[in-house]
Amino acid sequence: MAKHSYPESVDFHAVGVSSDSEQNPFRIVQRQVDEAAALLHLDPGLHELLRWPLREIHVTLPVRMDDGSTRVFHGFRVQHNDARGPCKGGIRFHPEETIDDVRALAAWMTWKCALVDIPLGGGKGGIICDPRNLSQRELERLARAYIRQIGHHIGLVKDVPAPDVNTNAQIMAWMVDEFAFMHGYNEFGVITGKPIALGGSLGREDATGRGVMITVREAAKKIGLDLKGARMVVQGYGNVGSWAAVLLQDLGCKLVGVADESGAWSNPNGIDAWALKEYAKEHRIIKGFPGLGEPVPPERFLELPCEVLVPAALHNQIFKENAPRIRPRILAEGANGPTVPEADPILFQNGVYVLPDFLCNAGGVTVSYFEMVQNAYNFYWDLKTVHEHLEQKMVTAFEAVHEMAQKYKVHNRLAAYLVAISRVAEAMRVRGWA
Ligand code: GLU
Repeated sequence: MAKHSYPESVDFHAVGVSSDSEQNPFRIVQRQVDEAAALLHLDPGLHELLRWPLREIHVTLPVRMDDGSTRVFHGFRVQHNDARGPCKGGIRFHPEETIDDVRALAAWMTWKCALVDIPLGGGKGGIICDPRNLSQRELERLARAYIRQIGHHIGLVKDVPAPDVNTNAQIMAWMVDEFAFMHGYNEFGVITGKPIALGGSLGREDATGRGVMITVREAAKKIGLDLKGARMVVQGYGNVGSWAAVLLQDLGCKLVGVADESGAWSNPNGIDAWALKEYAKEHRIIKGFPGLGEPVPPERFLELPCEVLVPAALHNQIFKENAPRIRPRILAEGANGPTVPEADPILFQNGVYVLPDFLCNAGGVTVSYFEMVQNAYNFYWDLKTVHEHLEQKMVTAFEAVHEMAQKYKVHNRLAAYLVAISRVAEAMRVRGWA
């Protein structure tokens, strides 16, 4: 008899279903598209097409557990738009994953790739699971099972996955290996964020955090903020949050508040971001690190006084109710979707310089693209080359958004949508999609 409970399998129609609420991220994306489309006077056909994913795959995954039983998982891969090139985007492992989260995240990838002007579209994958309750071997079997199901729908010229929340280079290695078994040849460019030993790119691990740092640095120049001694608050200390924190600390910022799933703390004297990164890597949580300071209620955490605020956890953190009290000079969205649309005008009115998610965290997919390029010509760059190209892509994208915001007198998120959507729409138009 199996010892596991099967919450995901009880009612198929309830698997991964999102709520109807206004906070549903897919509805949020659709509203954001509507707003940008109206300003751009977009052709109604193109507008409607951009509101929906082109393709979705729902998969059911049998996985042999360490105790010999079989457990059934559910997952998704959403291909939002490939007008500008093959779909691109990460795979998340999360117990509360829903199809609408994946749809929204896939759409954000479409805008992200267009904004940094790489020849890729948008996709995203997700598996409903709690990786904390799985052994390494179970995780491996789950990753391989997922590729067995979606392996004919991804590929160098179709759709290229990568790491995201709760997935990493090791998981990408298992996936690329399974893909090679299925097809009978190595195709490293099918997945990015791989270990260096398996065709990964130097500089991919810290790429998202580095992109956050670059955009914060550029924003600081625009608003005349000296980053030396600037107070920084970081929500989430995983890959994105921790790299953003250490790289910004290297520019002179002082980490005065930090939070993760284990709690939230504030320390006006400053927290050593590098030492905390080491600690978090070892313990997987920040709780217990000496020097965290005083605990703060997590629901008030984002309201801590600071110059640079980096939400780098999950979506829907900044909304109408708390937005008036969130007053950094720069809000750098390391996470995807941390701010709901109702909060944007409030932040704008209060003079917060928002670096919207699909600009701020685009460094990861940008270096993923460099990884694909290196895989394609089977010649690998040094770190300096990766950094130079990343710098150039991020600064150019930042300037495009800043300029658009000035031109239309709109907040940066809407400006970023205007830049990205016009590029995607142009590709769709010349293809004859509308
Ligand atoms: N998961 C990352 C993101 O949301 C990276 C995606 C990729 O490298 O394809 O941008």
